[in-house]
Amino acid sequence: MTSAEPPVCPRCRGEALLWARVPYGWANREGGRVAGRTGVVLCPACDAQAPNAAALITWFHVHGQADDEDEEFVRLLVGWATSVSVPPLDEHAPEAEIERWLRGDL
Ligand SMILES: [Zn+2]
Repeated sequence: MTSAEPPVCPRCRGEALLWARVPYGWANREGGRVAGRTGVVLCPACDAQAPNAAALITWFHVHGQADDEDEEFVRLLVGWATSVSVPPLDEHAPEAEIERWLRGDL
């Protein structure tokens, strides 16, 4: 997905190349799969070493704008999007934050 305004990279606050929704999920308490989607950005600075990102970043440098009618772009996009790693959900993070808040550390 792309928009008129370039997305902002949440890691370096720089200008990212594109924003995409990728499948994301975790196992719930009963072991059932909770499936959803989450947004990720492709950042030319932060993702230069990420799997399958370099070729897509290079594609943007050459062509400028995303073009979903370009077979090469779609191939590179799918390759990157399927290898993006999203950190697993930390189910203890909210409790830890509440404890820190109650102690006055937050
Ligand atoms: Zn970045």
